[in-house]
Amino acid sequence: MLRVSCKDIGIEGCEFSCQAEKVGKVEDLMLEHIREAHPHMIAGLTWEQHKALETRIKHGIHALEEGAEPHEHDRSLTLRVACRDLGVTGCDFVAEGEKAREVEDKMFDHIRERHPELIAGLDFKQYGELERRVKAAIVHEAESSEARHAA
Ligand SMILES: [Zn+2]
Ligand SMILES: [Zn+2]
Repeated sequence: MLRVSCKDIGIEGCEFSCQAEKVGKVEDLMLEHIREAHPHMIAGLTWEQHKALETRIKHGIHALEEGAEPHEHDRSLTLRVACRDLGVTGCDFVAEGEKAREVEDKMFDHIRERHPELIAGLDFKQYGELERRVKAAIVHEAESSEARHAA
């Protein structure tokens, strides 16, 4: 389980927290909550500011393992996303990391280097869609073998 709370991203006085299996889902839940409960946080944001907010959310997301000691850092889960998960054929690249943001950054670095055609000429909305696809495709290492049976 991944989890993020308003406190994790610096919103004081709000007890809201959400959790889900996928990074993209957690982020969606949090953005939804912000839109409803803290609309002033996103009103009139530029693209850059919106990115910065998403980054804060991603930084706040952490893995929750059933029964794990909160201080057991070395048990943190590995997150991964592969080019194939995004529908890119003929590329075996896999981005891995402990933080969703790290994995996403690695994937976007790779896309910029090796598949620039995927992002060339995208507008704000289309780029956002691609980011959502990347986020939605990020899975836990442990889950990936089962989750990938469809591939
Ligand atoms: Zn809140
Ligand atoms: Zn690739």
